[in-house]
Amino acid sequence: MSTVVGSDPPDSAGNRAPAVELDRVTRRYTGTTAVESVSVSVRDGEFFTLVGPSGCGKTTTLRLVGGFESPTEGVVRLAGEDVAEAPPEDRDVGIVFQNYALFPHMTVRENVAYGLRFAEPPGGVPTAERVERLLDLVDLAGMDNRDPDELSGGQRQRVALARALAPGPAVLLLDEPMSALDAQLRERLRVQLRDIQSELGITTVYVTHDQEEALAISDRVAVMRSGQVEQVGRPREIYRQPETRFVAEFLGDNNVLTGEVLAVSGGTDPVRTTVRLDGTQFDLAIDAGGHVRQPRVGDRLTFCVRPEALTVDGAENTLTATVETTEFLGETTRAHLDWNGVDLLARTAAPLEGRVTLGFDPGDTHAVAVE
Ligand code: ATP
Repeated sequence: MSTVVGSDPPDSAGNRAPAVELDRVTRRYTGTTAVESVSVSVRDGEFFTLVGPSGCGKTTTLRLVGGFESPTEGVVRLAGEDVAEAPPEDRDVGIVFQNYALFPHMTVRENVAYGLRFAEPPGGVPTAERVERLLDLVDLAGMDNRDPDELSGGQRQRVALARALAPGPAVLLLDEPMSALDAQLRERLRVQLRDIQSELGITTVYVTHDQEEALAISDRVAVMRSGQVEQVGRPREIYRQPETRFVAEFLGDNNVLTGEVLAVSGGTDPVRTTVRLDGTQFDLAIDAGGHVRQPRVGDRLTFCVRPEALTVDGAENTLTATVETTEFLGETTRAHLDWNGVDLLARTAAPLEGRVTLGFDPGDTHAVAVE
């Protein structure tokens, strides 16, 4: 089954309007700006995630797309159309909230069919057939006569997903749909969700505060902080090339260090830069085409090194630190280190203990600020 409706045909140059577009959107409440001048563009068929800490404006952004909130300023467009005047039921979006809110007095089948209260099933198929197909898609075939209280949390969430997909919306909006589930189930469900999303090719905007989930599930991620979008990019890009200290620290463990620039090699890319931190010199390779300006001697350079880049085999950029605590994580162990009063994290296959000398490759560093 693959019913995708509501997308504009490509123009003569083959360009489609973004499926979802927020153009400098602000949402203020008395005393709070929940969303401030957010501009994002979600492509047709993309799995796009809004991630950030609690209160950063993710849910409000999603509600603005769904039509449950109106912008104080700015424009929301769906398939190129300004939807300011359109109520949620006219927006061609399906939404699954955090508390999936199935109707307890309705069976699974009735709950999914409820998704068709404003719309005919796509493709003119009878409602019963549409519901059956959707239950099959979310792997709940044969459970149509059950009541919601006869289902597990993960199954209930899949019913909510089937209900949201029932009218064949152009866009699927998901607000922390797995937050009530345990970690293992969440991991399983996210694989299923991604499979369903790819099968349908449906544009999806997903909200989570879980950075690992965001990296695992998305085509692209927008990292939000205090109502604003701090960075948008593919998971690997955001993880490897965070543009700000906040993104560097929010997505996964990181060591963020600031030192004084002693030397900069001209004309190379990456630019070899020597920094001094607490009496120790480090040699870094800074991407010249990056988002920070090229460092100059005397600048203060803030850079990050992922814990997995600090290794006992590292011959360059060595430092000797004391292991304070370790956490066993299965395949790796995370060590909290003290290096002359600076807290560092390392992640190694073999557990570290006592005094250790670690090194990192100049290319495994990333600059986040030059001042
Ligand atoms: P969480 O992960 O905790 O759900 P979030 O990132 O989704 O958070 P929002 O729910 O969008 O954040 O809220 C952003 C900010 O706007 C918060 O400071 C919140 O208190 C405020 N806010 C949200 N809705 C309202 C409202 N209806 N009235 C007043 N303030 C609101």
